[in-house]
Amino acid sequence: MADIASLEKMRQYFSTGVTKTYAFRKEQLQKFKASILKHEQELYDALYADLKKSPEESWVTETGLVISELNAAISHLRGWMQPERVSTNLLNLPSRSRVMREPLGVVLIIGPWNYPVQLLLNPLIGAIAAGNCVVLKPSEFAPASDAVMKKIIEEVFPPEYICYVQGDGASVIPAMMNNFTFDHVFYTGSTMVGKIIYKMAAERLVPVTLELGGKSPCVVEEDANINVAARRIAIAKFSNCGQMCVAPDYVLVHQSVKDKLVEALKKTADQFFSADPQQSYNYGKMINAKQFDRVCGYLNNGTIVYGGKTDKDNLYISPTILTDVPADAPIMQEEIFGPVLPVIPFADAAEAQAIIAKHPNPLAFYIYTASSATANEWLQAVPAGGACVNNSSWHLTNHHLPFGGRGFSGTGQYHGKFSFDTFSHKKAVMKTPTWFDPAIKYPPFKGKLKLFKWVIR
Ligand code: NAD
Repeated sequence: MADIASLEKMRQYFSTGVTKTYAFRKEQLQKFKASILKHEQELYDALYADLKKSPEESWVTETGLVISELNAAISHLRGWMQPERVSTNLLNLPSRSRVMREPLGVVLIIGPWNYPVQLLLNPLIGAIAAGNCVVLKPSEFAPASDAVMKKIIEEVFPPEYICYVQGDGASVIPAMMNNFTFDHVFYTGSTMVGKIIYKMAAERLVPVTLELGGKSPCVVEEDANINVAARRIAIAKFSNCGQMCVAPDYVLVHQSVKDKLVEALKKTADQFFSADPQQSYNYGKMINAKQFDRVCGYLNNGTIVYGGKTDKDNLYISPTILTDVPADAPIMQEEIFGPVLPVIPFADAAEAQAIIAKHPNPLAFYIYTASSATANEWLQAVPAGGACVNNSSWHLTNHHLPFGGRGFSGTGQYHGKFSFDTFSHKKAVMKTPTWFDPAIKYPPFKGKLKLFKWVIR
């Protein structure tokens, strides 16, 4: 862990103001980008070792996302840092008003293991762009990625600016958060640990961003393009072996097209991952035995109509489709976070919405339909962190969209400019000229009520 003296050193370094200039921030982002590209192959090797991701998948879902986020920050940094002119109300004329973005200070970023690189480094880009000092805490469960990221960070940044802290989160994080007042904590991980982080932060009134998990539903209406839906659901559900926070957790399909969808999903999974997904270049593995056992526990929660094969020695669970899943089965109570997809038929929207409402405010919601009106009705009906129409998960790869949850799936948002804003304080500034200072604003007030009512309305 970073001991408290090291954290205090970071605070002092921040106080010098060195991290605040445009030139400094831009240079750090450029150095950071160069180092990631320099270690690109090591990152591929590490992601393969941790999660059996191919370089192509790693680029699309990890390193490429970081590079594109860095490119956006580097090109837009000057504009993001500009104070934003806003109108001034009648009461305060002829003052002028603007919003200044101020760095927060020393912030803590905590990452999970499922996309160990981008979920730790993307928030870091926002924090650097916004002029902060950062403590980075990766997950201890993706050790190969952890080692390469440590190398990158320590090669590029001095520890009083960006400090890389390894170890068991349950001991390392409380040791820091209970003894040092961070200016912000950005946490990605499970809802259960999110609550622990939120409580520790509350003790010191530290603001938080919580990027959590949950059950993201996927609805397939009877007018959907079933073959396209099957492809887009299968890629989002089975890539990274289902260990994706925005994976479609379960599918609710109109009963008239259920069989057609199940057949299309089976055919698609065969095409994507071959008859033996364990040997497939395109298919990953579970992160560890604990997660393997947890997900295997769901396999008897319904009828296996596809897959269901496992190999503990290789942490392998094949892409699996379950039907006849009872509403009270454990798989419908907990986030699955593995390659097991329950497909549940519904007769009408009300029935499907009642199922979704059992886990309100999911991180993501997906609706497949040919009708824009039907899509809009669903978008209105299901509050969620984000959503896709005729797609799954890809909204998170567009940095022009804010990414985050609501309620149990999280609080706060990031990506692109939203990351910069997350790590900046919006300081309200009013500048008032001295040449105009009417006596009416000052006591005595008696008799001015009518005028005040005219000015303040
Ligand atoms: P986790 O909550 O187990 O761990 C996340 C981080 O918290 C790790 O760095 C870990 O060291 C630390 N940690 C663990 N126990 C702690 C404790 N008691 N006190 C303080 N810190 C502790 O999460 P995970 O298993 O790594 O990730 C999976 C979960 O994350 C899933 O629920 C998934 O949906 C969610 N997730 C969300 C997003 C998102 O963007 N919203 C992205 C990826 C994963």
